[in-house]
Amino acid sequence: MEEKAAVTFQSPALGAAPDHLLAHLRLKRAFLRTLVISLTTCALVAVGALLLGTFNETTAKVLTTLGALAVHSGAAMFCAGTLEHRRWPKLSAAGLILFAVSFCVLITCIWWPGWFDEPTIRAILTFGTLAGFYILAIPSADLWERRTRRVLAGAGLLVCAAAFLMVLACIWATVSCNVEFAKATGIAIVIAFSVAHTSLLVRVPAGRGADWLLMVALGCVWLLAAMASASIAWGIDEEFWYRWLGAVGVLGACSSFALLIMAKLRQVGKVANLQSAAARVELRCPRCTTLQTVDAGAARCNACGLKFRIEIEEPRCAKCDYLLWQLPQRRCPECGTEF
Ligand SMILES: [Zn+2]
Ligand SMILES: [Zn+2]
Repeated sequence: MEEKAAVTFQSPALGAAPDHLLAHLRLKRAFLRTLVISLTTCALVAVGALLLGTFNETTAKVLTTLGALAVHSGAAMFCAGTLEHRRWPKLSAAGLILFAVSFCVLITCIWWPGWFDEPTIRAILTFGTLAGFYILAIPSADLWERRTRRVLAGAGLLVCAAAFLMVLACIWATVSCNVEFAKATGIAIVIAFSVAHTSLLVRVPAGRGADWLLMVALGCVWLLAAMASASIAWGIDEEFWYRWLGAVGVLGACSSFALLIMAKLRQVGKVANLQSAAARVELRCPRCTTLQTVDAGAARCNACGLKFRIEIEEPRCAKCDYLLWQLPQRRCPECGTEF
């Protein structure tokens, strides 16, 4: 009898998270604690060296290590965060590994006897390059994970990887890099930028009315890429040319922004114009199990005050805004776009 009572008392299996979530949280906690401990240690050493000793190479090394630790852990936390939210998970996993490698290389360069000068600068440049190309690869990776326009997404990822390796070759080449290769690297970077921009633009759900705007934006992006590549390849030295380059750049940037704004405008009306669902939900509170009806958006249990957020969005065609519901095929019946 007593045992039974004890069992009822211990019942809050209600609040217990599933095992895999607990393991994940444990790992995250361990990672963050390690980070805090190493940052504090480095900071103490740095402060001690600054206050007690004169500024020498060791102090510089400690400070560089501190900086390296800070920026790398920032990058790693960003990757881990996106990995956790299952956004471009493959790229995030690759990013985590590459940032770890970059950190090891940088630390080795800092502390290996006699390597502090040039190799350290190269390792820092490597980190910058890695961070830059990680960001550049995000639009393509996102497109890839969404399984749309895989050709564009795949091409974007390949160009990013190629340009990244070329920049690394330029950074680490011991003999001075030849000019042709440097030019090719420059052009590869321009193309990687343009593909990333294209991947971003084609995903903007601005509706059919904005097709012409998308065309203008894409045209400007690739015209700019062609002009920039020509400038790199032939070292064009005319003011007139660069005026045009600037004009095309401004036009490209403005049309891209206009496209984003139109997509935002379309989004604003989404919850207001729900057709196939109501903007409220009947649910049982996960804490006190009271049955109630709550509105979409930020809500709270009207019995115990537990907060939750409910999002309702009916899938619509990214191109023509047709309501995608009860369809036999994964293709918009209005405009033929696959989803
Ligand atoms: Zn409740
Ligand atoms: Zn459609």
